[in-house]
Amino acid sequence: MKILVCVKVVKGELNPFDESALECALQLSDDVTVVSMGPKVCENALKPLTRLGAKVILISDNCFAGADTLATSYILSTAIKEMDYDLILCGRQSIDGDTAQVGPMLSQMLGIPLITNALEIQANDGIVFATTRLGEERAELPALVTAERGYVLRFPSIFSKVGEVKILDNQVLGCDVQKCGLSGSPTKVLETFENERGRRKCKFIQMDELLPLVDELINQNNVETQKTYDGTKLKSVWAVGEEVCEKAKEIAEEVILIEKSSPQIIYEKAVAKKPDVILWNADFWGRRNAPIVAAMLSTGLCADCTMLETDGENLIMYRPAQGGNITAKIRCVTKPQMATVRTKSDSFDIIVSGGKGVADKIDKLNELAEKLGAEIGASRGLVDMNKLPYDKQIGLTGKTVSPKIYIAVGISGAIHHTCAIEGSTTVIAINPDKNARIFDYADFGIVENF
Ligand SMILES: Cc1cc2nc3c(=O)[nH]c(=O)nc-3n(C[C@H](O)[C@H](O)[C@H](O)COP(=O)(O)OP(=O)(O)OC[C@H]3O[C@@H](n4cnc5c(N)ncnc54)[C@H](O)[C@@H]3O)c2cc1C
Repeated sequence: MKILVCVKVVKGELNPFDESALECALQLSDDVTVVSMGPKVCENALKPLTRLGAKVILISDNCFAGADTLATSYILSTAIKEMDYDLILCGRQSIDGDTAQVGPMLSQMLGIPLITNALEIQANDGIVFATTRLGEERAELPALVTAERGYVLRFPSIFSKVGEVKILDNQVLGCDVQKCGLSGSPTKVLETFENERGRRKCKFIQMDELLPLVDELINQNNVETQKTYDGTKLKSVWAVGEEVCEKAKEIAEEVILIEKSSPQIIYEKAVAKKPDVILWNADFWGRRNAPIVAAMLSTGLCADCTMLETDGENLIMYRPAQGGNITAKIRCVTKPQMATVRTKSDSFDIIVSGGKGVADKIDKLNELAEKLGAEIGASRGLVDMNKLPYDKQIGLTGKTVSPKIYIAVGISGAIHHTCAIEGSTTVIAINPDKNARIFDYADFGIVENF
């Protein structure tokens, strides 16, 4: 079986999700080809992979620089159409862009079935079987599967030899340069700025004041509404699924609810009615299907937006970028303008949320939650350690929550986490590090070990 593994080099290293996909491929077959698009310098990170027995191809040309997900998928698909393969594996997402769009877009452009978020992958008799976050899935080969971080990439044998990285430029590939690089990318970053949203003034208290404080806050029943957009509105937007309607109403006079159906049906509706804007909920379903529809419509898609604005015609999208403390303001120059949007996923009164700092105190965390009648949440740090399941993850790539009281225990407060708790009425943070960023986003702070 011939397997292609699409990998991205991020800051000189292989994207961890792609490492997992590569290890999976090496376990399934001894005919593995790594395909990466990036600048020539990526060769340094890719060359060692030849020691694992994989062939390695770097797709590199100046005209590819600055590609967004649609342009990247186009370039990769042009190259892959000339290759022989049974299965394509991609990492679920890259850890810098974190959009999870390239896998779905690529599958659409190649016209092959897609399975996303695979924890375990097997293939035989022309079928690929995957255990995903949704259960068991299967697809006929050739297919594309995106992998979670379920596999740990092996070390090369000490007897292995370093091979060559084959470089393909656009003279060989013949991509349409209008669809490549920065100029061929429909999503444009207009500006980036320091993220100040969600900051609160923190009052420090002692641990023994926590329970009486929670009692007092619950009795106050002080539900404040989150600041909403109140500028000029778009005439009409499409909202795919009920979850995103509320966000859509903030920026549009008319919201047209589109039923969650297959990408093909939504695509056909969009071609017939030509909406200016389509919004999707940034949940599992939206993150899987929106990129497919974007690829079908050849339009840009901004992932995981935390805020939307408009001048009445254009959609302006905001999302955290570059590791967190920066927010990027993005516009899509093609129509329909599409975005997956973070929406309020739950409506609990109290959430007790744990981070890496309490990885060895999960029982105590559960006890506190039980005592307060609270729901449990987690940072990605804790979920990545497999201490709590993914459906508990709160943050940019997890859920957005707006409880009356959010208690962050052992969480440092990265923007990827705090951007999803802005709607909480009161935030209480417990952390022994008085300089932890979480205190800038909390109303009450307890500088103690939990
Ligand atoms: C694109 C992208 C998307 C991301 N999406 C998410 C997301 O959805 N959700 C998310 O949470 N993160 C997300 N992250 C990761 C995020 O940037 C942080 O790495 C993560 O939130 C850190 O988790 P943490 O706060 O649990 O761990 P750490 O940053 O390691 O912090 C642990 C904290 O615990 C404290 N501590 C230690 N001991 C104790 C104790 N005994 N009691 C109390 N506190 C203690 C420490 O002082 C420290 O502040 C994302 C990152 C990227 C790049």
